[in-house]
Amino acid sequence: MEYNKRQKIVIALDGFSSCGKSTFAKAIAARLGYIFIDTGAMYRSVTLYALENGAICNGIVDEDAIIGLLDQISITFRFNPMRGASDIYVNGDLVEGKIRTIEVSNFVSAVSSIAQVREKLVAMQQQMGAARGVVMDGRDIGTVVFPDAELKIFMTADPKVRAERRYAELKAKGDNVSFDEILENVISRDHADMNRAISPLRQAEDAIVLDNSYMSVDEQMEWFDNEYKKVLNNL
Ligand code: C5P
Repeated sequence: MEYNKRQKIVIALDGFSSCGKSTFAKAIAARLGYIFIDTGAMYRSVTLYALENGAICNGIVDEDAIIGLLDQISITFRFNPMRGASDIYVNGDLVEGKIRTIEVSNFVSAVSSIAQVREKLVAMQQQMGAARGVVMDGRDIGTVVFPDAELKIFMTADPKVRAERRYAELKAKGDNVSFDEILENVISRDHADMNRAISPLRQAEDAIVLDNSYMSVDEQMEWFDNEYKKVLNNL
């Protein structure tokens, strides 16, 4: 398909955890020459910083301590051509390899429910997408960060399929995790993300749903081409 690269839009990609949002977003961004922003990586980076600086200790999340650390956290992205996506840095340190552990996954929903954390990260995300031409994946992109996004996609997949994908990914990296632990994390994060007081995960009214439980990446791209074409025709 020939893309109209002059007309830059915002593509908001929300959905449940481990749905393959990042893989999908990365592929779309490469096709369109857009910037891909993984907002989950930003919440994960704050969580990692909190773990490394004593604000999460013995399984207790100290909200005030995390809020106190926020001014010390500077998050930046740098494009990594090897991955075809941007790596995330905290205060200049590359943290990409450290933020997807089960430990970070177990605390990230608690950290992302803190209002001051969301305020800081949402402001950054809005700034990064101000020039449009971005694919942003997360939980509240189509509802809060870019309610005016031209294309909103809500991704979902069977929780077991999602846990299997995440399990395979972590195993391939050599992490010592059990499938049950991952499934439990996927289900409890969905629950926490949907039920938090601020910006809970929900489908924007004007979002289109993509259930990719049994779809290959190629099939998802074909689906995307179709939807993208419709949006461009209506601009
Ligand atoms: O997308 P990923 O699974 O890496 O996101 C990790 C966590 O970050 C989510 O479970 C959610 O708690 C939080 N998150 C969020 N809002 C976003 C992106 C992620 O609350 N826009």
